[in-house]
Amino acid sequence: MTGNLIDRHNRHLNYLRISITDRCNLRCIYCMPDGRLPKLDHKQILTYEEILRIVKLGVKLGINKVRITGGEPLVRRGVYDFLKKLTEISGIQDVSLTTNGLLLGHNLEKLQAAGIKRVNISLDTLDRNKYRMISGYDHFNQVWQSIIDAWQKGFAPIKLNMVVLKGINDNELEKFAELSLRYPFHCRFIEYMPIGLSGIDPDQHILTPEIMERVSRLGKLEPVANDRNDGPARRYRLPGAIGEVGFISALSHHFCDSCNRLRLTASGKLRACLLSDQQIDLREPLRRECSDQELIELFHQCVLSKQAGHHLAENILIKSQMSKIGG
Ligand code: SAM
Ligand code: SF4
Repeated sequence: MTGNLIDRHNRHLNYLRISITDRCNLRCIYCMPDGRLPKLDHKQILTYEEILRIVKLGVKLGINKVRITGGEPLVRRGVYDFLKKLTEISGIQDVSLTTNGLLLGHNLEKLQAAGIKRVNISLDTLDRNKYRMISGYDHFNQVWQSIIDAWQKGFAPIKLNMVVLKGINDNELEKFAELSLRYPFHCRFIEYMPIGLSGIDPDQHILTPEIMERVSRLGKLEPVANDRNDGPARRYRLPGAIGEVGFISALSHHFCDSCNRLRLTASGKLRACLLSDQQIDLREPLRRECSDQELIELFHQCVLSKQAGHHLAENILIKSQMSKIGG
């Protein structure tokens, strides 16, 4: 059986984001507060073969875009062989990766050999001491070098993601946006989402209108047209910039109406929404060698459960941890 994944609100879901591990080599305060999160054990994580089976079925149902995330995807053993198998699946038009960049610099050639052409890299600050405070480790210099190396090796576009946190990195908004004047990077400001255990108070978020107002002190923001592979970022260019700035506003301007995403967690749960704890287990049926038809029905069940929009603004608590879902 083939077909399209169309939900009750007539959204076509063609994009699958896959978390391949809940482990990470950093401990960002907003994502993985140190020592407070039990780790999945090895057997609880989907094998690469299981993930590839799900993706191949997804392709039959209209999935043509995949993002690999985590935890930190580059810490999982065998990731480059897995990525190669993934990019070779016929019908997948775009495979990208979200990484903290720490292991990126030494593995760029392996990524290219695996068919990965573009990366999103998390970078919440340009200050080495603050980087250590936010991520728990003194690795700013390595990450920055990885970003430069990725650029010089031809990865494009390189999207840099900054989660904006009041009183922590909000004094660097202009500095971060200024990177787009010197480099062809897409510098993206992400509203903090209060989900799971976090070292951040929900009221430490800053909403996009304020972020945009501060960034536009550098010059008039000219809108950039979205392209086929764009996600929810609203894109702009500063005068004379070779790169772009972008704003991802899950709270202040939610993009649920045009959401085309499904998510697969590291432990094999299929989720219709990042910001809802509803999920469907695929691991159990996979491990009893269920039929493809059964998995396809679970895909459809998940799609039909997709709500029109999220309820974060109503202070509904999301228990799931970002590091398990993948962002
Ligand atoms: N380890 C990789 C990284 O940091 O890029 C991939 C996984 S991480 C969970 C994916 C993205 O989610 C990162 O850009 C991170 O900044 C973002 N993220 C994590 N927790 C968040 C939160 N509470 N609100 C908004 N973004 C968050
Ligand atoms: Fe790790 Fe990424 Fe979460 Fe930071 S945001 S703790 S790098 S998974």
